[in-house]
Amino acid sequence: MTRPFNFSAGPANLPEAVLKQAAAEMLDWHGSGMSVMEMSHRGKEFISIYENAEADFRELMVVPKNFKILFMQGGGLAENAIVPLNLSRGGSADFVVTGSWSDKSQKEARKYCDVQVSATTESRAFTSLPPLDTWQLRRDASYVHICTNETIHGVEFQELPDLRALGSDAPLVIDFSSHVASRPVDWSRVGLAFGGAQKNLGPAGVTLVVVREDLLGHALSVCPSAFNYKTVADNESMYNTPPTYAIYIAGLTFQWLKQQREGKATGIKAIEKHNAAKAQLLYDAIDSSQLYFNKVSKDCRSRMNVPFFLRDESRNDAFLAGAKARDLLQLKGHKSVGGMRASIYNAMPLAGVQALVNYLQEFEQKHA
Ligand SMILES: *Cc1c(COP(=O)(O)O)cnc(C)c1O
Repeated sequence: MTRPFNFSAGPANLPEAVLKQAAAEMLDWHGSGMSVMEMSHRGKEFISIYENAEADFRELMVVPKNFKILFMQGGGLAENAIVPLNLSRGGSADFVVTGSWSDKSQKEARKYCDVQVSATTESRAFTSLPPLDTWQLRRDASYVHICTNETIHGVEFQELPDLRALGSDAPLVIDFSSHVASRPVDWSRVGLAFGGAQKNLGPAGVTLVVVREDLLGHALSVCPSAFNYKTVADNESMYNTPPTYAIYIAGLTFQWLKQQREGKATGIKAIEKHNAAKAQLLYDAIDSSQLYFNKVSKDCRSRMNVPFFLRDESRNDAFLAGAKARDLLQLKGHKSVGGMRASIYNAMPLAGVQALVNYLQEFEQKHA
């Protein structure tokens, strides 16, 4: 059976090899007689799944020893509260707003600390990133928050900001929900990274948090215990029952990522090359057409989420119907920006992007 190409922004497509392995292991995981869903999270079977997932992510993303890797629940939106509960110390936090997600984050944080928007591209409809030398960072901020890939607006940081070079000692918090494990991370510039799994890692339900150890242990007293990073870290993410099945699928995805090859590159560098090639193919097709356009500055276009518009919007429905007929699914844009959006995460093969590009050209020719 060949499956359609699924361009959903999230929950999103998973590598077919991962789905097949999960199917094969559904009723009996490795001779245990149990589905992973039926195991005690404290039994040796699940502990081995958990430990392998953690070790594989650490190896894949080259996470330094002084960072903890936590598997939590609540998604990116819960982290918008959990981060200030743990890091703000009741003081202040600075936010750079580059799209819907960082805007949501700064609004939620206002419940817990003194928030300043240090830079925003709202007046440019979130189609660019604010130049670093315009960021107004406060000396006493407990942390600086950015969203490194804005899933709705299609804006991505191609390099993490070096806050020290901007005169700030605050830890950088990154929401990397929608491009986690699609490219390497420079951990020397990061204090904490969080991301829901359902874009690039696995099913909804598990949230990955990578946090520098010195940031643990400063939570506000009202912080729920299950959301206190130190409690979660001290209990190897098992203070409460973790989302076991989602962790298992994420673990299979990490193994799949480790096996990636592209020329001499392996693992995360290989998937990064693969992602860059897919994005280039799609943006080139959009830029060279008369019918479609993308509004984002070329230097910060997302490799993962490609919003695009038809110059003649009255053809939107016909475009989507034709796409569906060709097994190209979930291309409708987010309701807040309209148009189309192709999410081309790690699991989208080059053949899927090629099929989309072929369709874009065919549709344009038909309606020229
Ligand atoms: C999807 C997404 C979220 C929200 O994740 P939930 O799991 O729905 O809470 C947060 N940030 C970014 C960048 C996202 O893409």
